Amino acid sequence: MLTRRRTLLKVIVLGDSGVGKTSLMNQYPLCIYVYNKFSQQYKATIGADFVTKELQVDDKLVTLQIWDTAGQERFQSLGVAFYRGADCCVLVYDVNVHKSFDTLTNWHEEFLRQADPTDPNTFPFVLLGNKVDIDGGNSRAVPEKRAKEWCESRGNVPYFETSAKEGYNVDDAFLCVAKAALDNEREEDNYFQFEPIPEIISETEQIGGGCAC
Ligand code: GDP
Ligand code: MG
Repeated sequence: MLTRRRTLLKVIVLGDSGVGKTSLMNQYPLCIYVYNKFSQQYKATIGADFVTKELQVDDKLVTLQIWDTAGQERFQSLGVAFYRGADCCVLVYDVNVHKSFDTLTNWHEEFLRQADPTDPNTFPFVLLGNKVDIDGGNSRAVPEKRAKEWCESRGNVPYFETSAKEGYNVDDAFLCVAKAALDNEREEDNYFQFEPIPEIISETEQIGGGCAC
């Protein structure tokens, strides 16, 4: 019997300290949390944190591995292990703090420099404008229109306004992230023609295994 390849997607969450990255990740309870004891040591070594969640995208079961910094974004000192192999990058700013919007361009560039994706022009980003709940929107410093312009200028990055505190739009945002990562992965697979190879190999292995006795 052939085993289907598991779809594991790595998502990293970037943005200034305090914008709500960790809160957003913790607010995303939609899917099953998969505990992995082996990851604990690894997290400590690279100084990052990730949660693994499963969700259904159309007819496909997808495992999202969402990576968060352990606070080093304050020093812009995230190691290459953090960026390596990312399938989607979520950028977060606080709609009430203009500086966190201004630094988005730096985070965007830093990601492309460190992760070095195959095609920087089509690599999927998703932008989240967080903390829209504060003061009923009255303390807002960045108009939605400005954020959307930024997204357009970066090749139509999807944009969501969220509140990690109230759970507003968080599920929709991460579903979009999963779809974007999946689409990107499919494109890369097609490009390298990876898709048929694992099935052929697993078949051959089974035949080989049968002959060994
Ligand atoms: P990080 O440094 O980007 O990981 O930010 P945290 O997730 O640690 O959040 C920083 C602070 O902002 C914490 O006190 C959170 O409780 C608060 N916070 C995060 N998201 C929201 C939100 O959507 N609304 C409000 N009002 N507070 C938030
Ligand atoms: Mg954090």
